[in-house]
Amino acid sequence: MKRALVTGGSGGIGAAICRRLAADGHHVIVHANRSRDKAETIVGEILTAGGSAEAVVFDVTERAATAAALEGLLESGPIQIVVNNAGIHADAVFPGMSAEQWHSVIDVSLHGFFNVTQPLSLPMIRTRWGRIINISSVAAIAGNRGQVNYSAAKGALHAATKSLALELASRGITVNAVAPGVIATEMSDGAFDAETIKKLVPMQRAGRPEEVADLVAFLASDKAAYISGQIISINGALI
Ligand code: NDP
Repeated sequence: MKRALVTGGSGGIGAAICRRLAADGHHVIVHANRSRDKAETIVGEILTAGGSAEAVVFDVTERAATAAALEGLLESGPIQIVVNNAGIHADAVFPGMSAEQWHSVIDVSLHGFFNVTQPLSLPMIRTRWGRIINISSVAAIAGNRGQVNYSAAKGALHAATKSLALELASRGITVNAVAPGVIATEMSDGAFDAETIKKLVPMQRAGRPEEVADLVAFLASDKAAYISGQIISINGALI
């Protein structure tokens, strides 16, 4: 049984990833920031289904708090699967974008990736097996109006994915990014109505969190051992 940490496990896509990795037999560490209750609900569901899980709460933008939480988790052994899924958006057209909107989005997606992944990397390297999966967005591939901050954060994550994949390739560790299109969660609910999704997405529907989770689970499996440094988009033929 491998130990898997899913940041933002309390959110729509993260919860689906947690359930799926648990169904695959992993011990899942369900992470939350503000929504501890949601993380605990997911843990309860996993345990009821016969799986193994625990909840952890920290703000990925706070380096010291994140390091302390990870240190506690590492006392029970290495974490070999890391899914960097925590993310926010704070949209505005660029001339009206505040410094707070710019920094907050980059802080969670990009600095959060560093704060979480860097302390886990050496213990993972020692095991000679690992999976790092970064959840990005089509906005980083195609761009999106009103999301210069979000695209920049996720695009930087793509570049980091490629460099880290090179560094870790000889250690049995793969590093990939999954770039979803429109997925039906709270994050996208406010952004698109059903009519807009029909016009925007060639498959005429939003993706389901479970569909993203299936892709993540495959990348986390032994079967995906030769896939690394890739940006894999799941978007209903959007781009
Ligand atoms: P949700 O809003 O449902 O979940 C976001 C998650 O991120 C929550 O679990 C939240 O934790 C966590 N989070 C936010 N800020 C912080 C922080 N400072 N520290 C730690 N955790 C934090 O979003 P989705 O499930 O829709 O999105 C998940 C990922 O997928 C994101 O990275 C998003 O950018 C990406 N994505 C989503 C798409 C979509 O259409 N939904 C499309 C493309 C990409 P809590 O609630 O506990 O505070």
